[in-house]
Amino acid sequence: RAKLDGRGTFRFFEPEMDARMQARRQLELDMRQALARREFQLHYQPQLNLKTNQLTGCEALIRWRHPERGMVSPLDFIPLAEEIGLIVPIGEWVMRQACRDAVSWPAPLSVAVNVSPAQFKSDRLVEMIVSALATSGLPAARLEVEITEGVLLQESEKTLQTLHRLRDLGVRVSMDDFGTGYSSLSYLRSFPFDKIKIDRSFVKDLAVKPDGNAIIRAIAGLGQSLGMTTIAEGVETPEQMERIREEGCTDVQGYLVSRPVPADEIVRLIGSCQ
Ligand code: C2E
Ligand code: MG
Ligand code: MG
Ligand code: MG
Repeated sequence: RAKLDGRGTFRFFEPEMDARMQARRQLELDMRQALARREFQLHYQPQLNLKTNQLTGCEALIRWRHPERGMVSPLDFIPLAEEIGLIVPIGEWVMRQACRDAVSWPAPLSVAVNVSPAQFKSDRLVEMIVSALATSGLPAARLEVEITEGVLLQESEKTLQTLHRLRDLGVRVSMDDFGTGYSSLSYLRSFPFDKIKIDRSFVKDLAVKPDGNAIIRAIAGLGQSLGMTTIAEGVETPEQMERIREEGCTDVQGYLVSRPVPADEIVRLIGSCQ
């Protein structure tokens, strides 16, 4: 429904719609400044191997400390950053910062970095990662790239080539949020992932569904046959951890081990686990 506003121009949106679009536009403007203003920060969440009871590494998770809104969740800005292409410079900052932070952790602890579909469309991704490793001095074997099925959905030939180039460098590749997509299984066939990250929703099912552990058991078995690490995401209780161990998962990540914490805190946490 178009209407004439005070200045004599037509407005095509309902007021609420208009407000939503303005909020989005404002978020976009703010995000364009956030890198230069150093408002982004990385938090790290440890990953634990259930056999050795030792940490294997940490996942880097971006945080945005907005001057007025406080902490903005990545769930609220990463999708927009992807849509408008800003994820490319933001993702580069994440990669470089994560490598710089991880190089001070004791070897062989690794850092896992989330890389989004739009970053895979950029021709510079591999070059950028090579440069981040070289500048920081982090060995490629201590970097892990986490991708979701969104990455494999598009331009599959070029994407697979990029994944193989990363693999040739010695970088490991993980399939994130496994089991939530349309064809998680067929993606396992298209690339030899190092690690399967079982989505948090399946871990939640352990407590509420009678057969909740059947899916976890199946994925753990699949990982074992394929020689891939299987890590359960979102493990919050000792009961969940026990069930996950019983079903054969090799690793866990979740609030039970630790929430994501700032870089200086993760160094202390790693130190206390040594
Ligand atoms: P993800 O990669 O699947 O990361 C795991 C998310 O689960 C994180 O949310 C983490 O804080 C949360 N989590 C971990 N353990 C638990 C638990 O025990 N219980 C619960 N309820 N949640 C847990 P976060 O940090 O809000 O990140 C959300 C998503 O945003 C990530 O999901 C990832 O898709 C995206 N993201 C975060 N940082 C980056 C980044 O640097 N680049 C890109 N491209 N995406 C990122
Ligand atoms: Mg992830
Ligand atoms: Mg995940
Ligand atoms: Mg996720």
